[in-house]
Amino acid sequence: MAKFTYDVVIIGSGASGTTVAFEAQAAGLKVAIVEERSWGGTCVLRGCDPKKVLVGAREARNLSTRLRGKGIKQAATISWTDLMAFKETFVENVPESRLENFQEAGIETFFGAASFQDSHSLQVGDDLIQANKIVIATGATPSTLKVEGQEYIQTSDDFLSLEKLPDSVVFIGGGYISFEFASIALAAGREVHIIHHNSEPLKKFDSDFVAALVTHMKEEGIHFHFDTDITKVENKGEKLHIHGKDGFSLQTDLIIGATGRKPNIAHLSLENANIDYTKKGIIVNEKLQTTNNPHIYACGDVAATKGAPLTPVVSMEAAFVAKNVIGGDEKMIYPAIPSVVFTSPKLASIGISAEEAKAHPEKYQIKNHDTTNWYTYKRTNEQIALAKIIEDRESGQIKGAHFLSEEADYMINYVAILMKANLTLADLQSVIFAYPSPASDLTALN
Ligand code: FAD
Repeated sequence: MAKFTYDVVIIGSGASGTTVAFEAQAAGLKVAIVEERSWGGTCVLRGCDPKKVLVGAREARNLSTRLRGKGIKQAATISWTDLMAFKETFVENVPESRLENFQEAGIETFFGAASFQDSHSLQVGDDLIQANKIVIATGATPSTLKVEGQEYIQTSDDFLSLEKLPDSVVFIGGGYISFEFASIALAAGREVHIIHHNSEPLKKFDSDFVAALVTHMKEEGIHFHFDTDITKVENKGEKLHIHGKDGFSLQTDLIIGATGRKPNIAHLSLENANIDYTKKGIIVNEKLQTTNNPHIYACGDVAATKGAPLTPVVSMEAAFVAKNVIGGDEKMIYPAIPSVVFTSPKLASIGISAEEAKAHPEKYQIKNHDTTNWYTYKRTNEQIALAKIIEDRESGQIKGAHFLSEEADYMINYVAILMKANLTLADLQSVIFAYPSPASDLTALN
């Protein structure tokens, strides 16, 4: 067994592990990184980035559909084969180029599953790696639904590399992954179903806007089956048969399970280093140190932090961990976190919810705007565009915002800047925005 010694070893080469590795190396530490699957991790290989390429085609198709008869003669149609080939151009070179980047920076790389031997050493294949500090950044993977026939349920990883998209697809789960993939499959002309075990999908988003989105998606052709518990999946050759409680039954060609993601801790032998965890992930303190070992950190999707499992959030956690690994003593402080469901229209949220604001009417005021008939949205024949701004009554500062429109991702980012700078919408009266543009509508939301 070969032995190696480092100042810091990082397990996992996703957004979080990569950030720690480069920052620690730049600070002059001797760094190694371990990866068991493909260099690059979820976001770039089987998450945000490939998904958004598919969203791009859907946007083109939906925009041309909305403008049919309004200057556009024929709506665009999606070629799944071409789209997947285009998507692949973003993904195929990532593992090799990420590996090269590590090596060029002087970061040593180990390929294989890392497991703790004790609190300062990891085994990777035949190698024993010792380190003063260890960072666990192993991410998360799709959970599997525990039902008979679960082997016929595929995952988000599979959807993003499907060579053929069959005629009908069922998505199980009411989270953002199901909703986004469903709207892509619908735009590609397929029969699409979403099955969810309760009647509250997209729970972290504004409930009024979720209801409006579901209504819109239904009108566009998506079949929703709420309060439906699946009991069994059967493969009957031509079709997959889904059975549920109360006689529910549905036939389809493809089933994608998107019922949550579980932290990647199974291979780590955490007990050998006395590291505590729950099913939500590795337990960490405010400095993102594990409970019994201040020299072992965890960040990103694998850690049970207060941060949402989103790439910009895990990258920020990783930057904090890097500072602490280098010798800092920083506590993780999260700013307001914008999150977006890339459906059509998009749904976006930041800060406090309308429910929280309603519970404290003396403190907050909620401004509701139906912007559907505003020029920005009429120009491209959007069917629905809503905005909800929550302000602190005393200071006028924005404490929360929610948008439902094709431009919701841009709007939520503008609000993120305003919230960070403690600016009010009234402050924007002295800013000149390029017109016409979604940003130029901001002042009118006051
Ligand atoms: P990962 O990127 O998962 O990296 C962990 C790495 O560790 C993996 O490469 C894994 O192979 C490796 N590993 C695991 N165990 C071991 C071991 N024992 N030894 C060695 N290596 C190991 N976020 C957004 O912000 N916006 C989006 O639009 C968005 N869309 C998404 C869409 C989908 C379909 C999915 C699945 C996720 C999406 N996310 C999105 C979430 C985002 O991708 C994750 O939050 C982020 O990638 C997590 O990064 P990470 O570094 O924590 O983990």
